[in-house]
Amino acid sequence: MRYLPIHIDTQDGRIVIVGGGAAAEAKLRTLVKTEAVLDVVATRITPEIARWAEQGRVNHSAREFVESDLDGALLVYAASEDDSDNAMISALARARGIPANAADQKAACSFITPALVDRSPVVVSIGTEGTSPGLARAIKAEFETLLPSTLGTLALHIKDLRAKVKRSYPELAARQRFWAAIFGKGDLNSQLRLSEAALTQHVEMAIEQGEAALGGTISLVGAGPGNPDLLTHQARQKLHSADVVIYDRLVSQGVLDFARREAEYIYVGKEAGGVSTPQEHINALLIEKARQGLAVVRLKGGDPLIFGRADEELDAARAAGIPVEICPGITSAAAAAAAIGQSLTSRGVNKSITYMTGHDTKGFAEQDWARFSKPGARAAIYMGVGAARFIQGRLMLYGAVPTTPVTIVENASRPEQIILATTVSTLPEALKRGGITGPAILLLGFTPAQSVAASLSRKAAL
Ligand code: SAH
Repeated sequence: MRYLPIHIDTQDGRIVIVGGGAAAEAKLRTLVKTEAVLDVVATRITPEIARWAEQGRVNHSAREFVESDLDGALLVYAASEDDSDNAMISALARARGIPANAADQKAACSFITPALVDRSPVVVSIGTEGTSPGLARAIKAEFETLLPSTLGTLALHIKDLRAKVKRSYPELAARQRFWAAIFGKGDLNSQLRLSEAALTQHVEMAIEQGEAALGGTISLVGAGPGNPDLLTHQARQKLHSADVVIYDRLVSQGVLDFARREAEYIYVGKEAGGVSTPQEHINALLIEKARQGLAVVRLKGGDPLIFGRADEELDAARAAGIPVEICPGITSAAAAAAAIGQSLTSRGVNKSITYMTGHDTKGFAEQDWARFSKPGARAAIYMGVGAARFIQGRLMLYGAVPTTPVTIVENASRPEQIILATTVSTLPEALKRGGITGPAILLLGFTPAQSVAASLSRKAAL
């Protein structure tokens, strides 16, 4: 290792950048994130550097470089358009004992700049000693996906927790063992993605009950409407590091495939109208698995917080003192709206959009039907296929215009997706004729966009 990576304190430091072109701008893009005073000396600067100057982030001196610019500098970047000027400026700085970098001239540098993955205060620097910037970029890209954007806040939070841990573990070696246990249990991926609340809970539990109590977590993860491309990055990461995956009927195989083959898979779904796994049983299962120190992913179709009984699972996990996290997903109403090419809200038409269910614990779900029978009312109805005749009856009873459009999207986002445009007056018949058995969203007050409608009638004509 010829080049030693070190992290230099920039607070109260002054960094001199000579040059105002693309090379200087590239260096400044990192430097503006530091706490240093940045002095740019250049007759001309790029619009981006001018913007930083306007914001007061850099001080621009519009003139040629003079040697006294180096007075008191912490670091010098010679990044003008002229290589020989840069080499000369770097040599002057180094003669004064100031570390200097000359753009694109390794031989004239006393330091070179690494590729960075910035999750301040966590920073990963990747250097190849100038042998292969392309390789450094490829490694950087890998780390960019590995390290969550929340890592910096997590690190700051750990800093706050350290005092608490220190009180309980005054001895350094014991403290080191404690933190090793916190981050060593389970998969690094999920540790890095812990929310602040979950980490605090982990730490407090470990302080109270000893490190042996550590481990299990429960994550309520949105599996989206079925198309694996609509899974969030966070959901994929959670699946990747899950020990146990507890999933519903609406979760597609393509989504489950993101989990490890060695993970334990537990199906707790229910066929429409069929026998379901009692909710209490699911709650107990989540807790039992987490108590074994496992990373449990509770995978739910769409968004876990919409018609998914998430509150009951959250309550159970919290009552058991197990850290629980929520990873939102794309709800099926959003996928259905995308499928028909229409905005869920339109200026001048609807100021709100309701997500409602056709069923509740008592059977067909009662709603504020007077409101949904008014012209311009719009709603996305979940679990509405079996309740279609009931919904139609209620809407008509409250005076809905019979020709009010309803568009049905079955299996939104999946290869077998079906779109059916009908009206309130013909809703149950259309569902029957279309062979719609669900899962489907009924979009009340919506017609498919013209382009979608055209391709539907082309298909129908075939
Ligand atoms: N949490 C889920 C909803 C669960 S309730 C979400 O946010 O989407 C189950 C209902 O969701 C189904 O009866 C159906 O109305 C709807 N649904 C789920 N997946 C769907 C899909 N791919 N296409 C259309 N509707 C779907």
